[in-house]
Amino acid sequence: MSYNISAYSTALFSTWVNVEELNLLIDAGDGVTSGLLQKSRKIKNVFITHPDRDHLNGLPQFIQLNARGEFPKIYYPKNSGSFPAMNNFLKQFDPHVSATEWIGIEDGSEIEIKKNILVKALRNEHIKAPIGVHKSLSYKVLERKRKLKPEFLSKTGAEIKEIAGIKGRDFISSQTETNIISFSGDTPVDDYSKWDGTKILIHESTFLKNEGDAQIESRGNKHSRLDQVIKMASEISVEQLILTHFSSRYSKADINSSLRRLISEYNIQIPVYVVYPGEIKRDILKSDPVNL
Ligand SMILES: [Zn+2]
Repeated sequence: MSYNISAYSTALFSTWVNVEELNLLIDAGDGVTSGLLQKSRKIKNVFITHPDRDHLNGLPQFIQLNARGEFPKIYYPKNSGSFPAMNNFLKQFDPHVSATEWIGIEDGSEIEIKKNILVKALRNEHIKAPIGVHKSLSYKVLERKRKLKPEFLSKTGAEIKEIAGIKGRDFISSQTETNIISFSGDTPVDDYSKWDGTKILIHESTFLKNEGDAQIESRGNKHSRLDQVIKMASEISVEQLILTHFSSRYSKADINSSLRRLISEYNIQIPVYVVYPGEIKRDILKSDPVNL
């Protein structure tokens, strides 16, 4: 299965990522609806990583134009007060819009968005908060399937049903889990194992290698530096890497030259794609990677 992933992502200004086949939107920064136009109508589930304004300010227009029946559903880190505040405001501001469900979630929450496909929330350390307080989340898209054990492959459907009826389904089949897409949200690079084994990793990379830059723009919230992300990618198993959330201070040329140097230094063999500051990138995985 290939995925049509489109995104806009520039630190401080706006971030959103749409996975068309999954009817999924991750983050809803300014311009998401005007960027996606009619495609925004297909979105059923919206997962917001944290309450920074560049990740949620596109919600009013997105909801106003797209609310219908039970969709879209808005998921957010449950201890962020900004989301209930916006929901209350929108009920008054747009009373003609049908009620949208806003659901607070936490580290470890799993939400099924399609048959066999679920989104799992993971705590990250972008916003300083005690353990048990949920303000900033990363998201993993997982595919879970039950697979028949090899010794039962030759049985007929009726035989399998009968055995499962007697011995239970775990006797004849086992569960497989594939991490098809991961989205880091805003986060420092910390625990590599979070992303190990993901097929498509979408990771923030706010700063090029410069400690000074990180001081000026991050206002106490923690971000990733490009060299840290590339080093991590070199040590874990990932099939494709999409870099997002660069600071607008960097030009395309700055990003490309830093990135190409790091890709060669760390001997990165997988395709690496970039969502450059100020540009919507459509169907990212069909575009040219920086390195191949
Ligand atoms: Zn951000």
